[in-house]
Amino acid sequence: MICNGGCYCGNIRYEINLTSPDEARTSICHCKNCKKFTGSEFSIATKLPWKAFRITKGSPTKHASDNGSGTKLYREFCESCGSGIFEYSENAGDNTYVFYGTLDEPEQLPPKGEFFCKSKAGWMLEVPGLFHKQEIKQ
Ligand SMILES: [Zn+2]
Ligand SMILES: [Zn+2]
Repeated sequence: MICNGGCYCGNIRYEINLTSPDEARTSICHCKNCKKFTGSEFSIATKLPWKAFRITKGSPTKHASDNGSGTKLYREFCESCGSGIFEYSENAGDNTYVFYGTLDEPEQLPPKGEFFCKSKAGWMLEVPGLFHKQEIKQ
């Protein structure tokens, strides 16, 4: 299964090559760090094996920060239009997390759960049918 994606301006393009859709897990995160980076109420990212992910055009800019609990978190984005492309922590091991909205056809990989619901805005409803966790990202 091949999923293509890229940033808003088109300077960065990538390809995801999955043996099966089960290799990927999309989740919503309401943590404060994700709100700041995305400029939104939550982020949606798709966890997948590094080996399945390949940049095919351009070269994203990398930003490193503390995720709020002492773990270093890297986010890579397009320096031209600012779209977040993917993120990973130093503990993510063999996985990376691609920002869902950059997929050309995101509905191929719908969300399975929500994290950091304790930081969810009061007006934001839980998505029915998904698992819901108060914290923990993994
Ligand atoms: Zn761009
Ligand atoms: Zn988060």
